[in-house]
This record gives sequence, structure tokens and C-alpha cells, in this order.
Amino acid sequence: MHDLPSVVPKSLRLSADTVRGEAHPISEQQACRIPVCSTHPSGCDIRLLRGGRRFHPQFCPHRGCRHHCRGVGFWYIHWGSYRNSCFGRIQRFRCRGCGGSFSEMSFSADIYIKRRACYRRLQSVLCDGAGVRAAARRLECSTGTVANRLQRSGRAAFATLARLSPLLKHHESLAFDGFRSFCVSQHAPCDLTHLIGLDSEYVYAFDYAPLRRGGRMSEAQRRARARFEEHLRAAPEATEESARRLYDALLTTADFPLKAGRREIWSDEHPGYDRAWQAHPHLIHAQSRGWFIHRTVSSRRARNQHNPLWAVNYFDRQLRKDLAEHHRESVCHARSVSAMIARFALYAVYHNTEKPRRIRGSRTPPAAERVCTSHAVAAGAPAKAVAKLMLWRLTCRPFLSREHLGEFAELWWRGQIPTPPDGRFPELPQYAFA
Ligand SMILES: [Zn+2]
Repeated sequence: MHDLPSVVPKSLRLSADTVRGEAHPISEQQACRIPVCSTHPSGCDIRLLRGGRRFHPQFCPHRGCRHHCRGVGFWYIHWGSYRNSCFGRIQRFRCRGCGGSFSEMSFSADIYIKRRACYRRLQSVLCDGAGVRAAARRLECSTGTVANRLQRSGRAAFATLARLSPLLKHHESLAFDGFRSFCVSQHAPCDLTHLIGLDSEYVYAFDYAPLRRGGRMSEAQRRARARFEEHLRAAPEATEESARRLYDALLTTADFPLKAGRREIWSDEHPGYDRAWQAHPHLIHAQSRGWFIHRTVSSRRARNQHNPLWAVNYFDRQLRKDLAEHHRESVCHARSVSAMIARFALYAVYHNTEKPRRIRGSRTPPAAERVCTSHAVAAGAPAKAVAKLMLWRLTCRPFLSREHLGEFAELWWRGQIPTPPDGRFPELPQYAFA
């Protein structure tokens, strides 16, 4: 299922049931034995995971090669080795299909890295209310290193969400709503719209929509907004476009024909959501077959557990609390849309796979137990598959050509979402497009 088998310890190998994507209940004792992270002090490393055994590449990393999907037969030869000060001796290979050479680091999350920084620590720092500079202090590295690892973690997070999707049960009703924040300036607000399961509170998908600043403004603020918007102004239909992409993601998450009957999709009464729904032929078709029904609730209704949007309101609160850029009156606000989306993706995966769905009392469960009680498991994913994906995310390099990403994830991955006010795009390394 995943391209890990030769580097994953035996204890992590999946049973036949898990591979078929069926729920595989395990006891709490068994759960605690699932290794969710390498215990090496320098963090997860693809080379440590194979525990001294030889590395066997499963496919050619060069896009366009006939062995890129899966290496067939004796498709590679050993091609010497080299050393670097960070990882020691590294084995090189040569593909017999395309003639290109590569090394074991070509499959590692740490490709081209000359300095280690633990992805797990970075995640726990960033998802616990620290800004970029605070994260750099805690990891004892530069802010540039944090930004670099964040982009890598963001790509791994989007790939993990895509890989988790086919493992879920997809029977619960869903809710979506926009989380209001801003990037660069308060003159550039945006909505981060997320789609959440009402029972599991699993984040299925999210999207980004730039907005124009509205509400009451003084004359000076109006002039400042006009100056800010000289080069880049949010399109009025951005919310509808964002909702359309989210509906596409919704359709890909559903397992048609729906066996569990009608699935309710809840949102607030934003007119853009309804316009996007009415303009979506596949959703209208699904609605006419009785598979989906769009229900709305006033955004002024009390945000308690009786509110149908409780799950999205809960996740909004967590975001506001846990991500420094979304705190009220934050001085750590996002400076780049690309980095903001990467942090959101990282947080969504952290929420889905590493946070217990419900917790009471002062006890902190061990990591493996947290996976077994996570939102992903509540949404139907087998615990062992989730644990394996967590390990994969922290150690392996995701390839754009090998992932089944949605439209929004691909836009972000290719660096096609501009940051106001000058509309700059992120600079991405060539290897990110393989
Ligand atoms: Zn090749």
C-alpha cells in the first residue's frame, strides 16, 4: 500500500486485514506497543528505521521513468557511495530503466539536508502556540531552517491526508465553515474553510479563500486598504471557488453509492456556499439521488454542543488557541500564505492522528494510545495504519507524482497561491516537483 516495506521494522508491518483497509480493533496493551516514532535523540531518520539492514529502493525517484510507479525485476544496480557529515555513509544506486542515479537519501524527508532538525519536535512546538522565531530558539537553528522544515512537513501532511482518506469509513454527516484569519496585514483577511466529521471530529479537507477587508472603517483605513490592494485584490468569487474545491473533496471522500443512507452536510447561511452548491452539477445529482442534503444553521446561534456546527466551532477554538498566527491580536501573524497553509495542514494532521478524540482527567496517555483514540481511528481508520503513516510522514519523502492530491493541495504544493500585497509566490526547490 505504501512505499515503506523495506525500511519499516517488523513490528510495524500490517496484518492482511489492515492492508485491506478493514477496521482492526486492538487492545490498549497492543496499542502501546505500536512504535510511533524513532527513539533516537536526533529524531526520525529513514536510515535509523531500517535498523542496520540494507536499503532496497522500491521505485525509481525520477519522474517519467518506467520504474517510477514500481521497480520491476532487477531494475537498479549499486553505484558506489559517498559520505556527508550529517548522515555518514550513503549508498548510491543507478536505475537500469532511465540511467539516472540516486541515493537512499532521495527517499528521505531529509533529502539535501546538511543539518538535522527533528520534525516531531518542530510539529509539537509549532502546534503548541509558538511562533517561527520561538521554534528556532527551541530547536537551536535558524528561522530559515524552520521555514524549510515547515515546507517539507506541509508536503508530508497533505500527502498523509490524501493517504488516510481511503482508509476511512465515510459514513458520518459533515460540517464545514470558514475560519477567519489574516496574512501579512489586517487588510488581507482570509477564510480557511475546513470540512469536519460531526461524530469523529476528523478534518477531511480544508481550503483557503482570500477576502477583501469589510466592516466599518475610518477614511484613513479605507485609503490604507486601497494602497494595500494596488497590486493584488481578492477576487469577489474566491469564497465560492474555495467552496467548490471543498465540495469536490467532499465527493471524493464519499463511497458511492452511500450505504448508510443520507449524509447531511451542515454549514452556516453564507450565500456563497449555497451558490457554489447550486452550481455544482455532481452535488445536485447526488442530492437528487438522496445521498447528500445541505442543511444550514444561523451563525448567530449559541456555539454549544447542541449546535450542529459544534465540531467546526470546536476545531476553530483549537486553532485559535494552538497556532500562534491565529491568536487574537497576535504579533506572530502569518507573513506568507504558503507557510500559513503548511502550518494549517500540519495542525490538521496532528489533530487527526495524534490527539485523543476525548480526554478526561489529568493523565496524559502514551503516544501509541493517543493514536488508538485519535480522530482518524474514530473516523474508521485502522490504528496500525495510522501509526505507520505517522512514521512515514516523519521519515519519508512524498512524491507529487505518486500522491492522489486534491485540487487545492496540488495548487499549494506547486506554489501557485500568491501572498498579498505584491502577489509573490513561494520559491520552491526542484525536487519538490518530482
Ligand atoms: Zn529510472
